[in-house]
Amino acid sequence: MHDISVSVLSSGSCGNSFLVKGPETSFLLDAGLACRELERRISCFGLDTTQVEGVVLTHEHVDHIRGVRRFCAVHNIPVYGTRGTLALTDIDGTEKRVISAGKEFSIGGVRLKPFKVRHLAAEPVGFSMSVGTNRVGVASDLGCITANVLDELSGVELMFVEANYDERMLLEGAYPDFLKRTIKGDHGHLSNEDAGLLSSKASSSKTRKVVLVHLSAENNTPEKARSAVEESLKRHRRSVEVGVSEHGNMSGPYGLG
Ligand SMILES: [Zn+2]
Ligand SMILES: [Zn+2]
Repeated sequence: MHDISVSVLSSGSCGNSFLVKGPETSFLLDAGLACRELERRISCFGLDTTQVEGVVLTHEHVDHIRGVRRFCAVHNIPVYGTRGTLALTDIDGTEKRVISAGKEFSIGGVRLKPFKVRHLAAEPVGFSMSVGTNRVGVASDLGCITANVLDELSGVELMFVEANYDERMLLEGAYPDFLKRTIKGDHGHLSNEDAGLLSSKASSSKTRKVVLVHLSAENNTPEKARSAVEESLKRHRRSVEVGVSEHGNMSGPYGLG
């Protein structure tokens, strides 16, 4: 049994959700699939939905909140989010718990610390989560690597990092120019190169694994993401294992402790 384990229920623009299992209970980090599908995938990891005590949101984009309203209503559990995220999420009738960047809170024996990220959303955050000395970092949906993000991820043993697009595939792909610019911008998404840089700079002797998430189905491949990040880690002399969560698929559990 791990002190903390994280399973990817889905990742990418079709829906994002992590199942985080702590020493006491479990919770979802984002709920970007329909309620039924969330339930089905939770059961694939051997958990009963009654063991899920809440949903924590990173931001209000539909690929992160699609099932949150129904899931929280059916299971009568609260939703946690920043003021900006909650204001733009349709969750009437659900208990809302406001969180803010830099302020720690706990669910089921897991301490969570939200941190600010730059992304085209109202008040988006990433998270560092810990149980005792075991620390996990989640940095997805961010347009650039800030000193603050590096700071919050430094020293984690397990890191989930966005590797959204391969630069060349995006540039040569079918997306309209304005969308390409938005994705590449400081408030968009991280490229494979960015993911490599973030993973390399944030990892320390403690870091065991980086799992790449939020891969684009159109502008990336698991192989390209993995090789860009592995190369960067090698250049920076980091011996860290790399895992890739493929678009829309389940993966894990990834555990510590
Ligand atoms: Zn987003
Ligand atoms: Zn997203």
